[in-house]
Amino acid sequence: MEVKNTEISDLGEFGLIDRLTKDIKPHNTSTVRGIGDDCAVMQYHDTEVLVSTDLLLEGVHFDLTYVPLRHLGYKSAIVNFSDLYAMNATPRQITVSLGISRRFTVEHMDELYRGIKLACDIYGVDLVGGDTTASRQGLVISITCIGDAPKDKIVYRDGAKDTDLICVSGDLGAAYMGLQLLEREKVASAGKPDFVPEFGGKEYLIERQLKPEARKDIIAELDKAGIVPTSMMDISDGLSSELMHICKQSHTGCRIYEDRIPIDYQTAIMAEELNMNLVTAALNGGEDYELLFTVPLHYHDRVRDMKGIKVIGHMTREELGCAMITRDGESEIPLKAQGFNHMSGDK
Ligand code: ADP
Ligand code: MG
Repeated sequence: MEVKNTEISDLGEFGLIDRLTKDIKPHNTSTVRGIGDDCAVMQYHDTEVLVSTDLLLEGVHFDLTYVPLRHLGYKSAIVNFSDLYAMNATPRQITVSLGISRRFTVEHMDELYRGIKLACDIYGVDLVGGDTTASRQGLVISITCIGDAPKDKIVYRDGAKDTDLICVSGDLGAAYMGLQLLEREKVASAGKPDFVPEFGGKEYLIERQLKPEARKDIIAELDKAGIVPTSMMDISDGLSSELMHICKQSHTGCRIYEDRIPIDYQTAIMAEELNMNLVTAALNGGEDYELLFTVPLHYHDRVRDMKGIKVIGHMTREELGCAMITRDGESEIPLKAQGFNHMSGDK
């Protein structure tokens, strides 16, 4: 199939916006008016409104040599939905703002929007506006997400108490290992146009890096079980640093158990192949987009029986600090907040 390459200047800014957004239909009654006016209009009453925003820069947050634009669109939307779920809220609307350099064609933007729209359709979120401009270099994507929650259901980071159980959803470290794998293949492919990357048996790692999901299902499960966590966050910078945020804001310490940290076997195999410490990768690797939350001790049986949730430890008094108890139960390793951090320059 021949790929069409339409210059963005052929359509112009308004033509492009039109093309990208013409088939968008609202999923939510709170969306009164979407794209097409000076503002989107949303109607909320008796509920709290939550807003989260995220800026992604090419070369800093994503690398288009191995990230397909469709996946990038999907992931950019998902990471914003994840922030809303992390407050026990429901994402309802997003705005998408783009800075586009001359390297990109209309068809490239179609691909990006295919991913964004797919995420919106799967999660029931409405794309209600944005902004489109030229960029001097590279692609810039900024997404703002708006959502709602009943006042008594919103979960903050500062509500954890001594003896609360610490829970995580899914498994950790896989997205980080996926990134290591993609980077490795990128280096191996340099200067070899016929290079075929080797991802056999590691599909899960690649999927976790390129096409993460937000844990809408866990929020629904908790609701069904009648549980409102005392604190919650999504894990974007690594379990260790996120847990320390909760402890700091809640004025608690914590103990987690090394042998309880959920890790997929593909993550374990990859860590061995790369000669990396597996637990370090699970504690500090980023972009898992799993949920980290605390519940009162008496919910133990209820959370233990929930699929996809693992109790990994408990909160303590603040003076005891934050630590992990090793597999043999013999020693305590202090947790470090060496999160996955794009700002540090060394990821
Ligand atoms: P303004 O002059 O107020 O910035 P624009 O002409 O930029 O308005 O945008 C026209 C309409 O298209 C607005 O409703 C805006 O929210 C929407 N829009 C602009 N860019 C995008 C985009 N990248 N994705 C979705 N909607 C967009
Ligand atoms: Mg504008």
